[in-house]
Amino acid sequence: MFIGHPAAAFAGKRLAPRVGLGTLFAAAIGLDLLWPFFTLAGIEHFRIDPGNTAFTPIDFYDYPWTHSMAMALVWSVIAAIMYRLFRKPWRDAIVVGAAVFSHWILDFVTHGPDLPLWPGGPKVGLGMWDSKPLTIIVEGLLFAICLVLYLRSTTARDRIGKIALWALVIFLGLIYLANLVSPPPPNWQAVAWTAIAQWLFVAWAWWIDKHRQARE
Ligand SMILES: [Zn+2]
Repeated sequence: MFIGHPAAAFAGKRLAPRVGLGTLFAAAIGLDLLWPFFTLAGIEHFRIDPGNTAFTPIDFYDYPWTHSMAMALVWSVIAAIMYRLFRKPWRDAIVVGAAVFSHWILDFVTHGPDLPLWPGGPKVGLGMWDSKPLTIIVEGLLFAICLVLYLRSTTARDRIGKIALWALVIFLGLIYLANLVSPPPPNWQAVAWTAIAQWLFVAWAWWIDKHRQARE
């Protein structure tokens, strides 16, 4: 899933208004933020395979350390503990951990059966990506609902709080559309480096958060 992960981050703000939006973005996109480093280091692998599913030309055949269910749980616990180390409330730390795990749940719904339960274990995935229309409807709706939740729980402090948020929303939407219509990427390295660029969204969300506040 792509915009489903930022969607989960937006929804997280509703559950834990004190947690920064940048932190929630880092958590919800989390596994995909780690994944390009694991692939570039040669620890995990994928290949370009046009038609792998209707939605994506990528065959995620080997990513047990970032995308197995067991490791997703481990990353979730690590994230929660790291957050707690900053002397934050346990409640908020648990929301951060849950945001990390939400990534696996959303990927489980969308991916074909390529997500191992544990490294070397059986692979699962409900395969929503086999249908382009279904993916667009479900992911689009999820994004819209979570964005509304976010808009209801925060308000802009200044103009940047409005403009930066809507610019991000439009940018995410455009990338999503571009993904749908563009030809398969030239090679796996291009995909990995593009994935690293997702760290930009974390910084962007952090910036938005500085210019918005929780509603009373
Ligand atoms: Zn993922």
